[in-house]
Amino acid sequence: MENSRNEGERLTISSSNDTVPREEPNHEESVTNKSNATTNVEPNISAQIPSSSIEITENEVETVVEEESTFIEPAKIKRWVVQHYEKLPTWLRDNEFIITGHRPPLPSIRSCLKSIFSIHSETGNIWTHLLGCIAFFILAVWFLIEAKEGTNLQEKIIFSFFFAGAILCLGLSFAFHTFICHSPTASKIFSKLDYAGITTLIIGSFIPYIYYCFYCRLEPKIIYISMICIFGLAAIIVSMLDKFSEIAFRPVRAGVFLAMGLSGVLPAFHLMYTDGWDVLINEMSFIPLVIMALLYIFGALLYGFRIPEKYFPGRFDLWFQSHQLFHICVVCAAFTHYYGIHRLAHLRLLEGKC
Ligand SMILES: [Zn+2]
Repeated sequence: MENSRNEGERLTISSSNDTVPREEPNHEESVTNKSNATTNVEPNISAQIPSSSIEITENEVETVVEEESTFIEPAKIKRWVVQHYEKLPTWLRDNEFIITGHRPPLPSIRSCLKSIFSIHSETGNIWTHLLGCIAFFILAVWFLIEAKEGTNLQEKIIFSFFFAGAILCLGLSFAFHTFICHSPTASKIFSKLDYAGITTLIIGSFIPYIYYCFYCRLEPKIIYISMICIFGLAAIIVSMLDKFSEIAFRPVRAGVFLAMGLSGVLPAFHLMYTDGWDVLINEMSFIPLVIMALLYIFGALLYGFRIPEKYFPGRFDLWFQSHQLFHICVVCAAFTHYYGIHRLAHLRLLEGKC
């Protein structure tokens, strides 16, 4: 893969506007500070270097991550300092209202993975979906292994669509935010996978909902499940196009996923027409569905309009920026939906067979 390097290789990273990693024959990895001067870190082999040091001041956030080892080889010392938005290369620029705290390009998988444990503008994005992914994985294992009475193989398969969608979405999002700073190629690939992941969550959320709502009605069940699968597939294809990941397409990106999510309105109207409002509310888990939809819409709007950092540039560089709030909305929406379909399945199974 482009820019992939062996662990023993060394880099010098320039913080000038045209930040492009380049290899240096003196085999030293270095980073620069915000004064725009290139700093080569001269490792003192005999010195005891703390395993991790993070300094945060009011005006500046600096993160230094160093290799944890009792015997520190020069080859293993890795340092980087968070960057100002203006110092980032074009491919790493996404939101001009997040002014400081950006990771520089880290063209090493290991450095990207280690950056998970340091404080920068992506830390909140990484951890919100990493923890969400772990939580859904545990929930899936518990649900699928912990066989309850009445939970047959078919029910498990239907719920597996939802769990797979949630785990894929949150896992790919975590990977995207971790490796976005690796290289332009990695940024592009993981960005596409991130959007594909959102689509899998939407498809995975609809399948069990439609399955249980139209439990004894084969035709609408097949039509609506096919519909969401076709929309989802179209969204994945659109996501894979290079054009779609450009900054200018931010509202379009939000709009496509919003439209796909809103396609759930159609089966809800169908149920309202055939079964009535009371059945929809009391037996079809309509309230959790509405809460889920509102959380997605709210999150997508924050993301699309970059609220709150747009109104307070620089104030939300590390925490509570729009993207993190969007992530939190996605996790909350997914848990709300799990509650909804779990309740729906429980009520449906109590009724017995068709
Ligand atoms: Zn994200």
